[in-house]
Amino acid sequence: MSTTQRIPIQAWSGDVLNERGQREVFCGLTGIIWLHRKMQDAFFLIIGSRTCAHLMQSAAGVMIFAEPRFGTAIIGERDLAGLADAHEELDRVASEVLACRPNIRTLFLVGSCPSEVIKLDLERAAQRLNQRWHPQVKVLNYSGSGIETTFTQGEDACLQALVPHLPLSAKAPAQLLVVGTVADVVEDQFSQLFKSMGLNNVAFFPPRRSAELPAIGPGTRFVLAQPFLSDTARALQAMGMECISAPFPLGVQGTTGWLKAIAQSFGIDEQRVESVIAAPKARALKALEAHRAALANKRIFFFPDSQLEIPLACFVHHELGMTLTEVGTPYLNRHLMAHDLARLPANTTLSEGQDVDKQLQRCQQAEPDLVVCGLGLANPLEAQGVATKWSIELVFSPIHGYEQAGDLAALFHRPLKRRQLIGQRKGELAWN
Ligand code: SF4
Repeated sequence: MSTTQRIPIQAWSGDVLNERGQREVFCGLTGIIWLHRKMQDAFFLIIGSRTCAHLMQSAAGVMIFAEPRFGTAIIGERDLAGLADAHEELDRVASEVLACRPNIRTLFLVGSCPSEVIKLDLERAAQRLNQRWHPQVKVLNYSGSGIETTFTQGEDACLQALVPHLPLSAKAPAQLLVVGTVADVVEDQFSQLFKSMGLNNVAFFPPRRSAELPAIGPGTRFVLAQPFLSDTARALQAMGMECISAPFPLGVQGTTGWLKAIAQSFGIDEQRVESVIAAPKARALKALEAHRAALANKRIFFFPDSQLEIPLACFVHHELGMTLTEVGTPYLNRHLMAHDLARLPANTTLSEGQDVDKQLQRCQQAEPDLVVCGLGLANPLEAQGVATKWSIELVFSPIHGYEQAGDLAALFHRPLKRRQLIGQRKGELAWN
């Protein structure tokens, strides 16, 4: 059964089309692909079925040449009497993984949705393994189940599990914690900008090494770099940390707004910020020019997938001149999204949740030039002649900050160029 209702929101003058029905999104296991690249000393052990193993293999297929730091303990059909064996099997696989990899410092047991796994108490399993492997390895658990999470929520669940382990330090805690996985190159660029602004003690969470979690203290504030971290933000606030309210650092406007909100929170002079950002901002504006010329007035439709949709919609509309037909998001956290919501044009159709058949109909009626969607919808839409961009690519790629603004624009430009080339090629073939 599906439902559709309109709910008014603050900070944005339009309505939200709220839908509950069949949805086409990846589960939270997918987050392992970028989390294991970020935390070089962590291993992700999925407790799941063959389906989970296949998903990870195909989603992360390119990594077959390197030894991946994730694996699947297959828990097959078992009745309740078989649960003790399942725990034994889990301990055996975990011990095997750790014995072969002495550099691993954190083992994440990642839950999934097969009913055999739901019956397992992974928190208890993590406690048991912690006793066995302490102090060499910390064992934590979280859920990446498709029943509970969409694909970016896996990161939220993983970081939430790490929050209670952030060390408290009264002496030298971080001034600022930047929360959400960003590419190392982006982290280095932001660190440099913060240093030039006078913020020297900035830490990133998750860190590159899970064994070196940043120390926090009474004065530590945090800012989100990714919009899909509601539970992590709540957990940090519950520890007494203040959240700096800001737009997300995508594109020139988002990055400028993000940096200025941080600077304002620390009482940094606006002129100093302007002089620090002047050169990278000018480079980013230059990098956007060619893409803007090609993308202006093109119509774009976002299916709900990553929760990055609203900040991305602001970017393509304000900085590339694209027309928003519909912006879908799997969940809408009005509080964390307030700045970006306020930047959405008032006539935008904003939808939360999904009823995929109805949304496909709206997409067809809107006749967009470009559709941003999950892998499951991309192929059928391409077959109908619609250019698509996989939303997962926007999560895997370094897209934050000034230096990446041009690359971010190129991700939207490329599918249209490809369509154009295919059209030309067909024309040439017909002519010959
Ligand atoms: Fe499929 Fe669930 Fe495994 Fe995800 S966790 S791959 S949705 S079975």
